[in-house]
Amino acid sequence: MERVLTPCEETSKPSHVKIHEYQAKQLFREAGIQVPTGHVVATPAEAGAAFEALGQPLAVVKAQIHAGGRGKGGGVKLVRSAQEARQAAEAILAKPLVTPQTSAEGQPVKTLLVEEGCDIEHEYYVGITLDRGLGRPVLMASTEGGMDIETVAAETPEKILKVSIDPSGGLAAWQARSLAYGLGLPAEAIKPACQLFGQLTQLYLDKDASLMEVNPLVLTKDGGLLALDGKINFDSNALYRHPDVVEMRDLDEEDPRESKAAEAGLAYIALDGTIGCLVNGAGLAMGTMDTIQLAGGSPANFLDVGGGATAEQVSAAFKIILSDPKVRAILVNIFGGIMKCDVIADGIIAAASETKLSVPLVVRLEGTNVERGRELLETSGIDVITASDLADAAAKAVECAGASS
Ligand code: GDP
Ligand code: MN
Repeated sequence: MERVLTPCEETSKPSHVKIHEYQAKQLFREAGIQVPTGHVVATPAEAGAAFEALGQPLAVVKAQIHAGGRGKGGGVKLVRSAQEARQAAEAILAKPLVTPQTSAEGQPVKTLLVEEGCDIEHEYYVGITLDRGLGRPVLMASTEGGMDIETVAAETPEKILKVSIDPSGGLAAWQARSLAYGLGLPAEAIKPACQLFGQLTQLYLDKDASLMEVNPLVLTKDGGLLALDGKINFDSNALYRHPDVVEMRDLDEEDPRESKAAEAGLAYIALDGTIGCLVNGAGLAMGTMDTIQLAGGSPANFLDVGGGATAEQVSAAFKIILSDPKVRAILVNIFGGIMKCDVIADGIIAAASETKLSVPLVVRLEGTNVERGRELLETSGIDVITASDLADAAAKAVECAGASS
């Protein structure tokens, strides 16, 4: 379906957009890549019916969330009857799924994929991502596929074969063959594997993906190759070329604070710490995070309000930081260059009076109109702890965060 992006969709996006496994498999299918037959369901009863419809002795019930590691968290269950399929669905839907890649609270599951099971001879790993060093996509493959590829990458990186891809020419035939033989695939699987590597690469390039993984790619007992899992991330700067991908977005899976920030034109990334940061300029924001760490604290976020932020944007940034329950103190670090310190002060005052300022606020201002900015803050009646420089600001924020936790 042709659809033009609304301005909101254009801007309210994280830097990489993710989709669910069942959607990735739909794209694989369209690209000619073999995937198991499956049904997308939302209730235990539908899961039972899907098992019947598949008509196979074995099926797999899989939680559809954007995070991986589902197998380890109990989000992938093998079932042998409609009754078992219903029970597996009920268990997975009952509570948020916690995996090594989700937060400790886990991710609620709304959707399940019920697929025909297969007899696995061997699990391989195949992935494509951008190698920033080479400035090219790189295709990786390993015989050590399955649930522990991260360990393989960390401890035995020589077990991951790599070829770099010419973005205009795609994967060369000799490259595909070197991978297929390098994996030690049986003779009858060499040609299908080469075809699959080419199809995956073309899909990656056509869709402006930033990451594509098939883990595991399985060799079945009867010698076939099947993409048993699928993960695709897309470069959001190219989303305007892919309305079909925009349709696949699931906003429930995206961090609401990150979406809100993107809508307000702010660069925000949620982190695990307790000190909320509001900074102008990406470099200064990184420096601020480092200085917080040096002072013994940890940042709750990266937030760059940009060089020319308005008072409204500063106010929006404040509200986003305050909506994070982990935040125990806020550190505002602004160098007034293009943006003037009095504008920042206005934004802080507006936000603090609109939302209840529930945590200590440390402010370090420097640059254009700094005197005016400080004066506004001092006379505003809000509780501000001023700092003389960044080290002082970080030390004070760390102290406040410790004291108020
Ligand atoms: P992930 O843990 O989120 O990466 O989920 P996967 O889709 O990769 O599934 C995890 C594991 O479940 C796989 O590595 C397989 O070992 C197993 N699995 C998934 N589907 C099947 C199947 O059809 N048959 C069998 N025997 N195992 C399966
Ligand atoms: Mn997997």
